[in-house]
Amino acid sequence: MSELYDIIIVGGGPAGMTAGLYLARARMKALLLEGMMCGGQILTTDVVENYPGFPHGIRGSELAGHMQKQCERFGLPVRNETVARIERAKTQGGPIGVSLEGGERLETHAVIIATGARWNQLGIPGEKELSGKGVSYCATCDGPLFKGKDVVVIGGGDTALEDALFLTKFAASVTIVHRRDTLRATKILQERARENKKIAFSFNSIAVEIKGSARVEGVIIKDVAKGIQKILKADGVFVLIGVTPNSGLAKGVVTLDENGYIITDDEMRTSANGIFACGDVRRKILRQVVTAAGEAATAAVSAQRYVEHLKGTEYK
Ligand code: NAP
Repeated sequence: MSELYDIIIVGGGPAGMTAGLYLARARMKALLLEGMMCGGQILTTDVVENYPGFPHGIRGSELAGHMQKQCERFGLPVRNETVARIERAKTQGGPIGVSLEGGERLETHAVIIATGARWNQLGIPGEKELSGKGVSYCATCDGPLFKGKDVVVIGGGDTALEDALFLTKFAASVTIVHRRDTLRATKILQERARENKKIAFSFNSIAVEIKGSARVEGVIIKDVAKGIQKILKADGVFVLIGVTPNSGLAKGVVTLDENGYIITDDEMRTSANGIFACGDVRRKILRQVVTAAGEAATAAVSAQRYVEHLKGTEYK
């Protein structure tokens, strides 16, 4: 008979690692599954400035490393596996199935989904063809490759502005192309970007094509108000237009909203018994490391209580 876990955590970003930390300290039989490297999206974040406790900010990769070490300290087991599917329990309180991409099937009393979100794509001509040849979705990863070059950033949110500011460390110029005349990003980032002499803005503009043969040579942008097109010469294009939740493994198992985010209650319970969710995969208003960590702590305690109740071992 296969091993029965108390709680399987799917995803090793800040949410998954925080849930793991709480469950390891609670001495639950927990397992964290992460397909790639623990850390999630903060691995590609230059500096995290709004996570409390670090007055001068902390590099995203360093914060991820600290979280991982904290989990290791309390003995959380971690396996490098990608989850293909989560299956609801067949009977009330029965085991929940977690199928791995390699074919193995694990069983657990409860699951915490902390699979986060992935970068969106524009879907315009040239984007796919020139991906890795000047088209990038990660300024932290690829920024240093554009020393002295001209780059275009597409998007007007926190990621676009934060990464545009980061890119000014290397690039000769950074042009932010945004589809509206108002930025979505936090005001402090807007102030910094407007004060930075290397940053220019192209508002009310959308990218319609990325040009280049072997590498990116420019972007054709269209003024949405006037309908006029022009080419912006550029060596790099950073597409930073938001994220899509990684909720495919739970589609049809738990209730998702119209954008694919998992709906939970305040205790991080999904619509399926024994299945909890936290972090960027969840429907909410604020996607930050600090909210991921807070929700994950709640999810861990809710899942722990659920399992202890099932086993009749809860503290009364
Ligand atoms: P976001 O907040 O969803 O912003 C996406 C931006 O891209 C918006 O300006 C949007 O325009 C634009 N956009 C979306 N689809 C587009 C398309 N097809 N063509 C052109 N433009 C498009 O995404 P994000 O900036 O990646 O941030 C994701 C989450 O992480 C947010 O909750 C954010 O606050 C958080 N975050 C926080 C920090 C921080 O606190 N330091 C840093 C990074 C990210 P519209 O504005 O017109 O919709």
